[in-house]
Amino acid sequence: MTMTGSEARILFVDQSGELGGAELALLPIAVRYRERCAVVLLQDGPFRERLEAAGVTVHLLVNAGVSKVRKTGAALAALRAIGPVLSQVRALAKLARDYDAIFVNTQKAFVLGTMTRLFIRRPVIWFLHDIMSREHFGGLQRRIVRTLAPFADATIVNSKAAADALAELTGRRDRVVDIAYNGIDPAPFDLTVNTQHRAIRAALGVPTDAWCVGLFSRLAHWKGQHVLIDAVAQLLVDEHDAFERRPVGGVRDRGHAPSARSGRVSEIHVVLVGAPLFGEDEYAARLHEQIARLGLEPRIHFAGFQNDVAAWMAAMDVVVHTSIAPEPFGRVVVEGMLAGKPIIAARAGGVMEIVDDGQTGLLTGPGDARALASALGVLRRDPDYATSLANAGRDMARRRFSEAAYIERVEAALARAIEHAPARERAVPGRV
Ligand code: UDP
Repeated sequence: MTMTGSEARILFVDQSGELGGAELALLPIAVRYRERCAVVLLQDGPFRERLEAAGVTVHLLVNAGVSKVRKTGAALAALRAIGPVLSQVRALAKLARDYDAIFVNTQKAFVLGTMTRLFIRRPVIWFLHDIMSREHFGGLQRRIVRTLAPFADATIVNSKAAADALAELTGRRDRVVDIAYNGIDPAPFDLTVNTQHRAIRAALGVPTDAWCVGLFSRLAHWKGQHVLIDAVAQLLVDEHDAFERRPVGGVRDRGHAPSARSGRVSEIHVVLVGAPLFGEDEYAARLHEQIARLGLEPRIHFAGFQNDVAAWMAAMDVVVHTSIAPEPFGRVVVEGMLAGKPIIAARAGGVMEIVDDGQTGLLTGPGDARALASALGVLRRDPDYATSLANAGRDMARRRFSEAAYIERVEAALARAIEHAPARERAVPGRV
């Protein structure tokens, strides 16, 4: 039986109900297959609503015992989860009877997906959206992934950085791993109109002519919002010192700088778009303390989670990415480019496969607030350079990160896995 990817009936599994990068990456694929697929979520949340609104069937398999096992979870918690996991596996296997393949999109989903083999034979396609390094994961989680990796019938990763980290973990560089860079639809980024920017700025209390730095990431320590706050404090000091040294006149109010070209004075403001999605509330509290300590309250705005990232990006002058650990891919970097904004990103992981430093954006060392301050200063003083980076970034992002190319790659990996699966592993309608 020859079956193309799009004809296959796929059961997608994702552990989260939140709108994280992995879930947003799954969305266009699930929509592509919506006639014959369903998505199983291990948690309820806005991701379910987004899927259902797009016409995708969703099954919830929520089990509190499984949800408690976290990214760096201890062995004891994992042991306690065995019973609940098995009952979830059984439920998943039952659902999987009606599908040709199981497509697992997160770590817990991968564990459940491979365990369904105890009950039913279906090819398992694993989409890994993580860098499996010690920086990101605990020892137990890494051991589980190392043990299970060979059981995936196809492995897709979202960057070469993710592929390399997986190869290092498994010690197998010879395994076939497909790299599918996320593709992002540019349409919402093209559509945003000026009135929206004004409304967004007005709602936050950001002056229309302020120089606005946007950071679009869930609030989590490794996403490095604290680095941006330190960088802005540093930039304000740098600018203040520069103006103090000016022989005549000069603006002495901290935070105001004339642009090199126009001499116009603009205030620096920062907008943090995103929420603590995966239990990082304590980090959010620490950010508020840091801001208060530095006396930056009037300039730093917490916007919370926003659905319309394109409109929010349009309201910024620059989009930054500040992760202190290697980013598996970095959708926000591509989105900032599609929004036509100059971007500054942290030089590590998948981001280095997106940004050509000095051509399509600027890269600074992860966690290096001083370097970020000087990159911000460069863009602030030289709007022409900022515009040329933004234009080159937008052209490149449209070419290299199209949604069509992304779906095609995932589809090819799916088709291959289904094609190579033994005949008994495929669902035959009416005979399962
Ligand atoms: N995002 C969003 N609303 C927010 C903050 C972020 O929709 O308030 C989106 C962002 O536009 C991006 C995704 O969340 O598409 C984050 O993906 P990324 O690869 O940057 O990081 P991840 O969350 O996967 O670590």
